[in-house]
Amino acid sequence: MDGRDKLLECLDRLQAHYDIDRWHWREDTSPFDVCAGAVLVQHTAWANVEKAVAALHAAGISDVEALARLGEAELAGLIRPAGTPAVKARRLKALAALVMEHGGFQGLFRLPGGELRGLLLSTHGIGPETADVIMLYAARHAVIVHDAYTARLCRRIGVGPEGGGYDAWQRWLDARLPGGLAYRWRGHAAIVVHCKETCRAKPRCAACPLRDLCDYGAREAATDALRPG
Ligand code: SF4
Repeated sequence: MDGRDKLLECLDRLQAHYDIDRWHWREDTSPFDVCAGAVLVQHTAWANVEKAVAALHAAGISDVEALARLGEAELAGLIRPAGTPAVKARRLKALAALVMEHGGFQGLFRLPGGELRGLLLSTHGIGPETADVIMLYAARHAVIVHDAYTARLCRRIGVGPEGGGYDAWQRWLDARLPGGLAYRWRGHAAIVVHCKETCRAKPRCAACPLRDLCDYGAREAATDALRPG
């Protein structure tokens, strides 16, 4: 089985194995919540993001207009649970300004994909991963999101590009995965759920639906077989 076939088989199995609808972003998640989450999750765990987003909602900040009106210091106070609040407040304000310059999310997300991605990348504090999360889950462009979970899974099952940069990974994945929005949405969600629940930093290979396909899992199984019973 070549790398592409192995990756596709793994993604099919993951989507069948996990309840992807438990993924924190669903069809009806607002663009505001996706964008806020995409910035707030930088360098922290999702549980902290949920607390910060809940604090925003409790303060009546549930849309970009309200975010744009809010002072940066007050915003920092609300999002403190997500860590580095001053840094993330400045980033959220910059993103809110971009959205408002285009008349709201609808106006911004109507732009062609390349133009939208360029604008996001030129916004303070938004790198390729954050931009692509916003592109996929908020603007609904069928882009590849690459992240540390994807790299971990691919390296363990034994597929991926020679090099390691974001662009190299994105090109490699883009050339091998089906292009539809639903597939890319659910495929990335499945990888994240799998890496949080099973293929953790210390993986739970015995419970993994990919074990017979996975190079790392095969080595673990061989080691287990050598252990005295
Ligand atoms: S077998 Fe282990 S290392 Fe391989 S994908 Fe599953 S949990 Fe990860």
